[in-house]
Amino acid sequence: MSILVVGSVAFDTIETPHGRAEKVLGGAATHFALAASYFTDVRVIAVVGKDFGPEQEAVFTNREIDIRGIEHADGLSFHWTGEYSGNLNEAKTLGTDLNVFATFEPKIPEEYLESEYLFLANIDPKLQARVRSQMPNVKMVCGDTMNYWIADHGEALAEVLKELDVLLINDGEAKMLSGETNMVKAADAVMAKGPKALVIKHGEYGATSFFGPRMFGGTETKPFRAPALPLAEVVDPTGAGDSFAGGFYGYLASQRQLTPAVFRRALFYGGVMGSFAVERFGTERLQHVRQAEIDDRFGLFREISHLEHTEG
Ligand code: AMP
Repeated sequence: MSILVVGSVAFDTIETPHGRAEKVLGGAATHFALAASYFTDVRVIAVVGKDFGPEQEAVFTNREIDIRGIEHADGLSFHWTGEYSGNLNEAKTLGTDLNVFATFEPKIPEEYLESEYLFLANIDPKLQARVRSQMPNVKMVCGDTMNYWIADHGEALAEVLKELDVLLINDGEAKMLSGETNMVKAADAVMAKGPKALVIKHGEYGATSFFGPRMFGGTETKPFRAPALPLAEVVDPTGAGDSFAGGFYGYLASQRQLTPAVFRRALFYGGVMGSFAVERFGTERLQHVRQAEIDDRFGLFREISHLEHTEG
């Protein structure tokens, strides 16, 4: 099975309590693709500038991620500047330079057209919609967005939401998108806009999924809460959400059938990949994860959230 992802491929300048990283490879599609590549084939649609060279390309190709859909344009790549101070769950955006993304017209390479799974990673909802419309036969569509797009691109985002099977967003974004302050009411209001299911990420506290009546034939009426691993050291939270999405969707795409049990395990794999991502700056950690490390951490996630039925 293969996932086609469209989203930002960027350079990030990041400041955290652990230090500063200047123009390191980042972007929502980058973090997503790396995390998902441990589970399934991944193809990327994006645009980069002259500053994106063989060193950056190798980060993708070393993980056998297909980058034939990354277009090279004149100008500079997307550049995001952010900092974390105090609350590591929330990035403060200091600058968003869309650069070559401002005029990007996505074209899907012939070889990508049979991809079964589509992921609309964080980027201008107009671009998400264009890619969606060129992939009418995909089996499943999953997506993400952020406050930047919710605030000023509401109309375009509303069109994307109608197309989604699953939307992944964080608590603050769910509340912003719905205008509700209560998480359960926010989830219902967001699902009423289109997604059949919703995954709300709570940063270091895990994630909660909500299922609407069109998911699993309406049989899953209760939400499901997946843990996050309590970590003593978070070096750089950038990309944790995208890595979560990559682990989640990568695992789903690797399974023959989508059942509630598969969905729950996928949320755990999302947490696993998110927990690796934050251990180093940028994409450093996700470039080299061993399968045994993924298996061990999955076991740890099960252990820390398991309650015996028996007493005593
Ligand atoms: P997260 O997983 O939410 O920490 O995502 C962080 C990544 O999102 C960074 O690598 C940024 O390059 C990227 N990013 C930041 N702002 C935007 C935006 N407005 N649109 C698309 N990608 C963004």
